[in-house]
Amino acid sequence: MTLPVPDTSTIFKVTAPHVKYTDTHIISDYVYHNAIVSKNDAEGTFEVLPTETKYQFKTELKVPKVGLMMVGWGGNNGSTLTASIVANRNNISWRTKEGIKSPNYFGSVVQSSTLKLGIDTKGSDVYIPFSQILPMVHPNDLVLGGWDISSFNLAQAMERAQVLDYDLQRQVIPMLQELTPLPSIYYPDFIAANQYDRADNLIPGDNKKDHLEHIRNDIRQFKAANQLDKVIVVWTANTERYSEIIPGVNDTAENILNAVEQSHPEIAPSTIFALACILEKTPFINGSPQNTFVPGCIELAERERVYIAGDDFKSGQTKVKSVLVDFLVNAGIKPIGITSYNHLGNNDGKNLSAPQQFRSKEISKSNVVDDMVAANQILYKPGEHPDHVVVIKYVPAVGDSKRALDEYVSEIFMGGKNTISLYNTCEDSLLASPLILDLAILAELMTRIEYRVKDMEEFEPFDAVLSILSFMLKAPLVPPGTPVVNALSKQRMAMENFFRACVGLAPQNEMLLEHKAP
Ligand code: NAD
Repeated sequence: MTLPVPDTSTIFKVTAPHVKYTDTHIISDYVYHNAIVSKNDAEGTFEVLPTETKYQFKTELKVPKVGLMMVGWGGNNGSTLTASIVANRNNISWRTKEGIKSPNYFGSVVQSSTLKLGIDTKGSDVYIPFSQILPMVHPNDLVLGGWDISSFNLAQAMERAQVLDYDLQRQVIPMLQELTPLPSIYYPDFIAANQYDRADNLIPGDNKKDHLEHIRNDIRQFKAANQLDKVIVVWTANTERYSEIIPGVNDTAENILNAVEQSHPEIAPSTIFALACILEKTPFINGSPQNTFVPGCIELAERERVYIAGDDFKSGQTKVKSVLVDFLVNAGIKPIGITSYNHLGNNDGKNLSAPQQFRSKEISKSNVVDDMVAANQILYKPGEHPDHVVVIKYVPAVGDSKRALDEYVSEIFMGGKNTISLYNTCEDSLLASPLILDLAILAELMTRIEYRVKDMEEFEPFDAVLSILSFMLKAPLVPPGTPVVNALSKQRMAMENFFRACVGLAPQNEMLLEHKAP
């Protein structure tokens, strides 16, 4: 039987009675296995009740025409990603002292990682590109746009960023010169004073309601001008200070919309963008650490059923931390001190050299080991936690090439100590840019997946807070009242198994019983 999938790029078909392919959708019946545990405190024992819940997942197969709008488009991440997509799209190679380099999408989970589909008849694993599990937008097909408070066109922005090799810059300049960021919102109180010099591309006035409407209109115009089916917006602008949560101002959906009407000083530019996107039914992802998603903003997203995700790209040091601490704790080793130093010399580092903006980053980096520590009551008593310190310094000389120095001190067998010291050097923007792609592509995919459970008559979208994107995020936002997962392997497992469920495949278990008990 041939696969009736128009406009899609899946390279496999699941043959099973619980998986149905139509001209437009894949519908899978899925049994979700879980276990409900109750504790008998008096005896210190548990009772475990295995559960089964029947879900149906429905995925639209047609890949739409998608626009990616970046807030902070002219920054290091925005310009690096744009130049790299242009290079990939046009297959531009460039010379370096090490020889000729070709463009790629390394660092993107979707584009450059694989997942196991199953085994062949001889028992060997069969892997497919992650991007083939369900039809997804290809980065080369994204229409790019966005806003920046700096008026530099994308060619100037790329030169200012000093990230990509000169020979590549030289070749993409003609294509990037034509791209100019839209004017944006600048409330000086929210980002570091040292950013003032570049703020020459601003939406006039100081009325926040007008600003909100302006951004909504920008999204509509961009969509219409490029004949797009959907737009995804990613905040990759400067880190803002935290907003104060004030009852009556930003605590409910209604209050925050009223506060915008009254131009309340505690409404941040990033929150204006988030609200504008929600009202335009456009997914919004926050790649910086600040609390853009104040409670009123989350409530509005839940009410309007628009996807939001955040916070803060998980690119380097934190990614390693969410692997290493998971490994140590799961190996029965007890990390007791984690000390992380960073120094960087790009504009992000300059902005973070101001105390309030540093504080946002410090908060976002500091909770990353909580779930791993809480999962092991043998190593840690209730409330016990490793010492965890994060330092960030601005050193212009190193430019975008960030240095991260980490020390992990752990208690091992019989009172011994183990110290692991890491030194990581990398262009920050080359780590973060592919994450923008993954976040945008997977957020778009999620807008095409719906579920039905129990007695629900219609298929519905998932909770507005897209925790499935946590792999790419340092301080994952989760639906109110649900647990935060930071461990990278669990985050990857959640993504992989969720998309497998959508095509009717059981979760990956790695038991390899076919080899142990054939
Ligand atoms: P950058 O300073 O080079 O770029 C930020 C851009 O945002 C600048 O061009 C600035 O003019 C613009 N901007 C500031 N306020 C704006 C507003 N209100 N509207 C529109 N544009 C605005 O920084 P970057 O290195 O590209 O990083 C961007 C963000 O991503 C930072 O907040 C950073 O903390 C976060 N981040 C980066 C990484 C990484 O590895 N590069 C990792 C995690 C998080």
